[in-house]
Amino acid sequence: APRIGVLALQGDVREHLAVLGGLGADATPVRRPAELAGVDGLVLPGGESTTMTKLAVRTGLFGPLRDAVGSGLPVYGTCAGLVLLARRLIDAPPDQPTLGVLDVTVRRNAFGRQAESFEAPVAVGGVPGGPVTAVFIRAPWVESAGPGVEVLGRVEDGPAAGRAVAVRQGDVLATSFHPELTGDDRVHRLFVDLVRERRASTLRDDEPSGGG
Ligand code: GLN
Repeated sequence: APRIGVLALQGDVREHLAVLGGLGADATPVRRPAELAGVDGLVLPGGESTTMTKLAVRTGLFGPLRDAVGSGLPVYGTCAGLVLLARRLIDAPPDQPTLGVLDVTVRRNAFGRQAESFEAPVAVGGVPGGPVTAVFIRAPWVESAGPGVEVLGRVEDGPAAGRAVAVRQGDVLATSFHPELTGDDRVHRLFVDLVRERRASTLRDDEPSGGG
């Protein structure tokens, strides 16, 4: 089974571990640099990105995290996790560092006070079976995205209609919303499949060529 870590400094870690475990992954919390070694993929949970970032810096995990995702470790960020992945932030503390592997500008707390928390159907590219129920909690959105970024899903109705809330850039997947809270494992399945494919191709590349 693919080994998938969940950054476990703060946020809804247990929910992600449960969904990943249900999909047959070997799901494991990551709190220390040593726990990053040997994972085939990583989930950055929802929570509070400023707190998560401070804790990662304080525990010495921030640098190893940036190295790991920067060298191609598949990663899926939900909500605060999307903020952590973004290259550029709007409405964040000016000194808040990010992992910077997703070529997007993310606006934190983008939906405003009236919409602290709500649900809406979002059709997500690569997820079969109709729209998912997207749960937004003080959610960010993707304000703009570079050419290498594929927008997989947008808000369909209301004042935020058209805003990008699910994106992918190679092996980096991110959503503004929280599929781990809905009992619907289809978005996580997309990520687990991506990790499995990456792992299979890495193992193939490691085989000695022409060997018997
Ligand atoms: N507003 C939070 C942040 O910017 C994200 C909220 C969430 O993860 N539910 O970190």
